[in-house]
Amino acid sequence: MSYDECYVKSVIRTIPDWPEPGVQFRDITPIFKDPKALRMVSDAFIQRYIDSDITHIASIDARGFLISSIMAYHLNLPLVLVRKKGKLPGETIHQEYALEYGSASVEMQLDAVGPGDRVLVFDDLIATGGTILAACTLVKKLGASVSEAAALIDLPDLQGSTLIQDSGVPVHTLMAFEGL
Ligand code: AMP
Repeated sequence: MSYDECYVKSVIRTIPDWPEPGVQFRDITPIFKDPKALRMVSDAFIQRYIDSDITHIASIDARGFLISSIMAYHLNLPLVLVRKKGKLPGETIHQEYALEYGSASVEMQLDAVGPGDRVLVFDDLIATGGTILAACTLVKKLGASVSEAAALIDLPDLQGSTLIQDSGVPVHTLMAFEGL
């Protein structure tokens, strides 16, 4: 593990049994209170994509926005939003996906991306992979292709990143936490 990965991992706070019993919530808010950690995380993603041919970052509601907007600025790329249903004005498409109990839905504006665009789908964390897969479906429905899915944190025990990779989308994460 690199010094940066070790440092950022030590800053992330684990809240047991939140928002429900059995979940270890990986709270990234301390990263935003720690300029060194925020710089390390932002720089890691910026360096990865500085020479890539991605044309857009599609960022997922809501913690993903905080880092992807820094990336978009430094990479000089357009940032488009994947939001929870009902938050985006104008013409939109939505995609439902299953949660452990019930379902959720994400939405994009119709003109967010289109044919020929090569999109990086970005979120803070991959658990079951359902959110990122739904976002990838929306990007593809709009005619664009997904170059990669990226997140700060992978929870490999939930196998979401494997599921995303099996769908044909490469996955890049900065660190993994064992357990749920
Ligand atoms: P999933 O669709 O199961 O991959 O869940 C990913 C989304 O849920 C991300 O937007 C995360 O912010 C949130 N999430 C799921 N599990 C956790 C967790 N253990 N800690 C923090 N956020 C989580």
